[in-house]
Amino acid sequence: MTLSSMDSPSTQLQSELDASTHTAFDASVGRPILKHLNADSSWLLSLPYPEHILPPSGRCRYNIVIDVWLRGPQVDLFSWFSSQEHAKPSAIQSFAELNDLLCRAETAVVGAQPEVQQAPYFIDAVCCSHEFTDHCHEATLKELPAAVPVFAPKKAANLVRSWKHFEYVEEVPVYQSGYDWHVAKVSRLPSWVGIGRIHTKGDAPIYFHSALMITFALSTHGEEEAEAIVYTPHGVDADSLAVVKQGKYPTKVLALFHGLHDISLAGAQLNLGMQNAIKAREILDARYWTPTHDEQKVAHGLVASFLKRVVHTLPMAPGSHPVTRREEGKPDTQRFNVCEKSFVELQNGESLVLE
Ligand SMILES: [Zn+2]
Repeated sequence: MTLSSMDSPSTQLQSELDASTHTAFDASVGRPILKHLNADSSWLLSLPYPEHILPPSGRCRYNIVIDVWLRGPQVDLFSWFSSQEHAKPSAIQSFAELNDLLCRAETAVVGAQPEVQQAPYFIDAVCCSHEFTDHCHEATLKELPAAVPVFAPKKAANLVRSWKHFEYVEEVPVYQSGYDWHVAKVSRLPSWVGIGRIHTKGDAPIYFHSALMITFALSTHGEEEAEAIVYTPHGVDADSLAVVKQGKYPTKVLALFHGLHDISLAGAQLNLGMQNAIKAREILDARYWTPTHDEQKVAHGLVASFLKRVVHTLPMAPGSHPVTRREEGKPDTQRFNVCEKSFVELQNGESLVLE
């Protein structure tokens, strides 16, 4: 884990992060848990059921997986054109492994024996942010039972439907000023969870730079704000995120998922990287910012030879000085003027309780 906290106001957050980042998965905590399933952009968001909602038998959490690509290549159009593989094996190698982990964790909390656990499956929803195959990976997703509902933007939803594997695929709405995060009556999401998309203005028709927003109301107290995570693997124009605060109901952003690396292809910026992320976190006032989609994958094909990547490892404040000889060997947090106090990097397999 890499922490960027340097000064006294952040000391408390730093110790919280130290205490709550680990590879174990404790389902008894009454807060959302993030788990990084690989070194790239596959995540589990595990939500505790609110106190006033009765969970299904044998269950205590609602588990959503996001952009899951665990093994094998990811091909865009043709392998000679663009093909990538994970450089590091995913910490979680299959949905069976993840389901087993969640089953053990939840069963320990509800007090049942694993062999008499009545719940049939512990992955409750699948999210895909884009139709590109690193976010919508057919071989990985087809490991899931057909009954697991899928939530995705229009093009990704159509792609998943074309596989004829899943029984239920729901298109998520695009949030604009005045949006209501509560789900439509026909949705398979529980009433206390909402999923929508935020577009970068003027980014049609591909919406490469967009974000998924997952909102959840865990509190029984009516006046308390709902909470949300904003997931944007390629980045979304920071100014376009102002819409998050313009909904019908106030929402507090718990976590922003946004990469650090600047990636461009023949002059066109693909992943918006560090500077945009710093601004996005500020606009959202997100408590946590965790990098995503920064794995330097093994790439083949024509596209790979034109990709340019500028690697950043920490969110440096604009104007940070270059490393001096005297500072060499010191940790990054001491060498650089670090911008963000909420920055927490989750490595392959690591978990974090979102306090
Ligand atoms: Zn991608």
